Amino acid sequence: MITFPGTPDLAPATQLLVHSAHWRQPWLPAMDDKHNPYAPSRASLAAAAVTPTASGGTWRDGTVLILTPEASLPSRCVRCNEPSEEPTKSRRIYWHSPWLYLLILANILIYAVVAVIVRKKAVVAPGLCSAHKKRRRTGIAVAWTLLIAGLALMLMGIESGKPVVAVVGLLLILVALLVSTNVTRIVRAKRIDTQYIQLKGCGAAFLDSMPPFAG
Ligand SMILES: [Zn+2]
Repeated sequence: MITFPGTPDLAPATQLLVHSAHWRQPWLPAMDDKHNPYAPSRASLAAAAVTPTASGGTWRDGTVLILTPEASLPSRCVRCNEPSEEPTKSRRIYWHSPWLYLLILANILIYAVVAVIVRKKAVVAPGLCSAHKKRRRTGIAVAWTLLIAGLALMLMGIESGKPVVAVVGLLLILVALLVSTNVTRIVRAKRIDTQYIQLKGCGAAFLDSMPPFAG
């Protein structure tokens, strides 16, 4: 019996019919699907096969942006939805269960070690337009200036025995850290698991351009 790759195990007579179907109409020229007007539409077949991943794999759920690990973000600013200014950097984002913070109460070092081991990582490339890139660069410069000024004031205060100056320096350092966390982080993880990456920090216009998440 002749076997063809990918052919189900059919009786030889049936197999001959399957592979010689076009011989039954020898008066018709052989046609491939490209020229056959009766072939099913490729477009409709493609549409039927669209899966969430094939359609982009990105959704919005309220203020949260949800994407699959394979999905890539569109080349638009995640703040205002304008075209993003290239190049867009890929950024590593980490997440761990909020319960882990309880370990800080026991020992902050143990927390740090466990967090590094169990945290989940995702790589995303959130776009920013030229205006928002500029704003971020300015924010980073402001944070650095505050940090250096704060350190200088704190050291000066300690050295000259003026605790008020040292405390003002310490406050400036804290403000610098707050500014830095807010401006350098473009998006932050709400949750990362094997199926989805959930991000916070996207603007309303960008989120409005995303299809709603159906779960
Ligand atoms: Zn923007």
